[in-house]
Amino acid sequence: MAAKALDPSVLAVAGVRRLRPYQPGKPIEELQREYGLREAIKLASNENPGGPSPRALEAVRRAAVDVTRYPDGNGFGLKRALGAHLGVDASQITLGNGSNDVLELVARTFAAPGEEIVFSEHAFAVYPLAAQAIGAIGLAVKAREWGHDLEAMRAAVSEKTRVAFIANPNNPTGTWVGAAALRAFLDAVPETLIVVVDEAYFEYVEESDYPNCIAWLTEYANLVVTRTFSKAHGLAGLRVGYAVSSPQIADLLNRVRQPFNVNSLAQAAAIAALEDTGYVESSRAQNRDERLRLCRGFDELGLGYVPSVANFVAVDVARPAAAVYEALLRLGVIVRPVANYGMDRHLRITVGLPGENERALEALAAALRRG
Ligand SMILES: *Cc1c(COP(=O)(O)O)cnc(C)c1O
Repeated sequence: MAAKALDPSVLAVAGVRRLRPYQPGKPIEELQREYGLREAIKLASNENPGGPSPRALEAVRRAAVDVTRYPDGNGFGLKRALGAHLGVDASQITLGNGSNDVLELVARTFAAPGEEIVFSEHAFAVYPLAAQAIGAIGLAVKAREWGHDLEAMRAAVSEKTRVAFIANPNNPTGTWVGAAALRAFLDAVPETLIVVVDEAYFEYVEESDYPNCIAWLTEYANLVVTRTFSKAHGLAGLRVGYAVSSPQIADLLNRVRQPFNVNSLAQAAAIAALEDTGYVESSRAQNRDERLRLCRGFDELGLGYVPSVANFVAVDVARPAAAVYEALLRLGVIVRPVANYGMDRHLRITVGLPGENERALEALAAALRRG
């Protein structure tokens, strides 16, 4: 029987119909396939260039024999380890399939269709997507010097605003907000506004005025802090992140999440990664040195960039960046175009290993000579 030519998109809810999916960095294999390249480097998704801790890999190997079983749906071991590591109670933690998962849980739990979610211009692309998917209204507040303008964000908050997302540091700009400004924001907004501070790059930041918002949870009942194992811990492929909040908020988020949202390999690897504090320290130190190498290289090329405290830098290529991105691809270097963040003259380059950063700078010089 021939099916009628119904366009199923008319059946989708309005928010989903207008949704444009998140654009991930190009996988290395895809570049090799499409461009016939034998080898390439990827500095496009802010992964730890050194990979995960060897202890995390060993934990994955050990956990693999049990994959016939469902994972622990409560994540008991990981929450206990995180609680001890962070100085919070396990009841304050919500585990996610990446912190992306918990960001969406917050949106779904606290914002109804037609209500508002506020974030900054040039902020992480998942915030507007999370708002739109549930029919909420995303408010993108004008940035200041590429970073969050918390005063303007505060002014944008009304009774209809349920959630604020603040990326600290922000992706793709690498900008950050200091303790005083963030406190002023938290003190000024109504306590009915859920404030999510997304600390995906927490482990990399060394600025003395950079706040650890988990320490503020006792003061602000409306505060949610998210972190991830995808970046400094080098476990992006396993998908594990978490939120820390009051036990009441964690209870709500846990009602919404899928029962087995974090797989058993990820749980085991995350526990081992937390124990290997030396690995994170050396990753942080290497990132600091290599970020400096990239920035010096940009200086030598006469290119501006947004000062970054994270493991990536948004460099201003002073012309439409799409052509430079393409030229870099042909040279086997994958970086991230950020035109979808309202930055069409910038490219976001993840801090890689020393040789990768040198190669990226050489390729950038060659691409600019041509263009
Ligand atoms: C990478 C990133 C995340 C989360 O990534 P997950 O892999 O889902 O944990 C969250 N926020 C920001 C700002 C990021 O850059």
